[in-house]
Amino acid sequence: MVSLSDIKQFFRGYIGINEPMAKYTSMRVGGPADYYLEPVDKMDLVEIILYLRNNKFPTLMLGRGSNLLVSDEGIRGAAINIEAALANVRMEGDLVVAEAGVTLAKFVDFCVQKGLAGAEMLAGIPGSMGGAIVMNAGAHGGEISDHLVEVEVLREGRLQSIKKEDAQFAYRRSGFGNDIVLGASFRLSEGNKEELLAKRRELILKRNASQPLHLPNSGSMFKNPPGNFAAKLIEQAGLKGKRVGNAQISEKHANFIVNLGGAKATDVFTLIDLARRTVHQNAGLLLELEVKLIGFPDETRKQVA
Ligand SMILES: Cc1cc2nc3c(=O)[nH]c(=O)nc-3n(C[C@H](O)[C@H](O)[C@H](O)COP(=O)(O)OP(=O)(O)OC[C@H]3O[C@@H](n4cnc5c(N)ncnc54)[C@H](O)[C@@H]3O)c2cc1C
Repeated sequence: MVSLSDIKQFFRGYIGINEPMAKYTSMRVGGPADYYLEPVDKMDLVEIILYLRNNKFPTLMLGRGSNLLVSDEGIRGAAINIEAALANVRMEGDLVVAEAGVTLAKFVDFCVQKGLAGAEMLAGIPGSMGGAIVMNAGAHGGEISDHLVEVEVLREGRLQSIKKEDAQFAYRRSGFGNDIVLGASFRLSEGNKEELLAKRRELILKRNASQPLHLPNSGSMFKNPPGNFAAKLIEQAGLKGKRVGNAQISEKHANFIVNLGGAKATDVFTLIDLARRTVHQNAGLLLELEVKLIGFPDETRKQVA
């Protein structure tokens, strides 16, 4: 059994009870987590994870919440935010070493300022290093795993280094689903700082022009099927602008669902389900969700699996 008084005996960070997850997701939806924990450093994080796992208490690692749809009922268990505990990026020899709570914006900036090429295609992805590794985030033909050397994880209660070859990376997928990602190292090539700054700027402007960034969203809801684009399929199915409650399939980019203000997770889910069914009827393709559903009953998740 997990108890608050036990946790307080050793845990040094912030503890929230029934903390609304809408505060920690880019879609700005999601009900309360029973426990919300912000460890202060790596040791604090490892201790709380070991305690929770030994007690078989469900835990969710939060990155920047930019690829999550948390149910209106929230999370039965603990949500753990490592933003403050693991926020360092540095050079170690010729490697860039980034902790899991570092934002991709900070990581890209660090690399670009050092004139190191290969991370700039990640500019504008609003995630953390940990979330990006778990999701194998990418854009413009590149992925975070491209220049990765190894990943430090807490796996089965032990700190381990996993080499890229053993990490099972694929399109928006990795083998880190059950691990706690603590950090990663990268070997980048030498580039021209001015050119890298210009590239980063160009890519961010491109996103601003094509994505509905003025409204809360979770990025692409679906993965692109091989040789096709989810946005194109949803648009061809006539769903651009379709609204349920205060959630809407974006007029600007049909693979985005936006929160027009006070949307419920069920509104977003209804649109996901509708888009999948309509595209299937229309084009014979079953779209695969990119966004992770958290705190939904199994039957509901199966509906869109
Ligand atoms: C406007 C917008 C644009 C986007 N553009 C892109 C894009 O171009 N390309 C792309 O790939 N994605 C894109 N995304 C999606 C999202 O930003 C990425 O998937 C990102 O990598 C998720 O990182 P996060 O830190 O927000 O993870 P979260 O959404 O918080 O979590 C994602 C998953 O990773 C797990 N996780 C997070 N941190 C850890 C950790 N330390 N240890 C173990 N598990 C962990 C979570 O439990 C969850 O399962 C976009 C999102 C938005 C809102």
